[in-house]
Amino acid sequence: MIESVTRESNIENQNQEAEGMQLQGKKVLVVGLARSGLSAAALLARKGARVTVTDLKSEAELTGYLKRLNSAIELRLGGHDTKDFLTSDLIVLSPGVPVSLPEIQQALENRVTVISEIELAYRFLRGRFVGVTGSNGKTTTTSLLGRILKSAGLTSVVAGNIGEPLSGFVTDEGSGPEGTVYVVELSSFQLETISRFRSEVAVLLNITPDHMDRYSGFSAYTAAKKRILLNQTANDFAVINRDDPTSWKLAVSANAQLFPFSKSKRLEEGAFIERGRIIVRREGKNQEVMPVSSISPKGEHNLENVLAAVAVASLLGVTREQISSAISSFSGVEHRLELVRRFRDIEYYNDSKATNLDSAIKALEAFDKKLVVIMGGLDKGADFEKLRSLVSQRVRRLILIGSAAEKISAALSGAALISHAEDLNQAVHLAAASAKANDVVLLAPACASFDMFENYEHRGKVFKNSVMALNY
Ligand code: ADP
Repeated sequence: MIESVTRESNIENQNQEAEGMQLQGKKVLVVGLARSGLSAAALLARKGARVTVTDLKSEAELTGYLKRLNSAIELRLGGHDTKDFLTSDLIVLSPGVPVSLPEIQQALENRVTVISEIELAYRFLRGRFVGVTGSNGKTTTTSLLGRILKSAGLTSVVAGNIGEPLSGFVTDEGSGPEGTVYVVELSSFQLETISRFRSEVAVLLNITPDHMDRYSGFSAYTAAKKRILLNQTANDFAVINRDDPTSWKLAVSANAQLFPFSKSKRLEEGAFIERGRIIVRREGKNQEVMPVSSISPKGEHNLENVLAAVAVASLLGVTREQISSAISSFSGVEHRLELVRRFRDIEYYNDSKATNLDSAIKALEAFDKKLVVIMGGLDKGADFEKLRSLVSQRVRRLILIGSAAEKISAALSGAALISHAEDLNQAVHLAAASAKANDVVLLAPACASFDMFENYEHRGKVFKNSVMALNY
């Protein structure tokens, strides 16, 4: 049944907006030069636009990217010039740039069109689109889905926030083979500036406070996430976490057919758990996919990611055998609750990507052993008090680093023993000295990394190197 639905919808659901955009001779400003900005600028130049790239970072900080930029592209680095924003025909935003940027707001007031890099690419790509968003779990779910689709032999790519920008897939002919499935990881910033982007299957994993330093409040952040449902029609599907109240509230405004997932409830339609097994129920029929015990990545939250991926894969017509075998061989993504080492009866886990409160909470909840936790970094406006009960139940010692250390220490004072470390290496040594046999040492920063590191990957690597160097 599921397969026949997919075959029928296969061609009909191809992106109807793939006729492109008329860019010849147009003045286009790309804001933010990292991977996506570079990719968008290259695409725009290929389509004949007159491109300027602007970034707050200086030329010296951006040398790596600048080397790969076409020499015809103009640069405005080390700051923005409002004139560029007001005199452009089109502005393309990189994923890290919020639409609330004052220059963007002025451009919008002046009726300049502002789109995300995702939207730009979408206008050229013919294919089927699966959009994945949520505060946490996007990369894990997108990667898992990519693996499932690949092992099922579908022509698919994973793109967006996860690494390879979508613009990189636009070829001179347009796009890849007919029917290509684009699994696109979408951040709230990217969603703010989509206009026609439509997901045949939209995934909403969860919405918990994040980026509170960049949004006016939780409702503004939620409104951005809700845009994943924008443009969906009754032929499309919305895969929404039934257990997350904020996400589920948005289900009423979906035009698409709901195909939820839940780890705690049996559903009339969707993916859920029954007696330790993952079940997909569609049009009144249950299909057993696999036992929960065959899933490797730790933590209940990963079960949610798996359920979401199972739901999407079934909707796309992948068989349960193919789904089950791809999931069984998936061990997770680097820097997400990654086991680094077992050393002297202590396990060391790297969750450097736990950059907000909810992901840090999920990390602490994933273990039933006593924990020595390394936390801290650059605060994004989090309410660390919310960690108090969990910390007092599970944490033997909390070791704090980075610019948020004082704030965390004040919020959690008395909940556990608290120490401060100068840097991550010292924190690892302190952790190793305070952990007892059978404990887990966990890096779960609950903060961004930019106060001490280039990014979360860099922080994770430093942690892993320090752990691997322990020899006493
Ligand atoms: P994202 O791409 O949304 O940042 P990741 O898959 O990279 O998501 O995971 C980010 C962090 O959130 C990691 O610390 C990971 O362990 C945790 N995490 C993964 N999935 C979930 C989930 N469904 N709910 C809460 N936290 C999650």
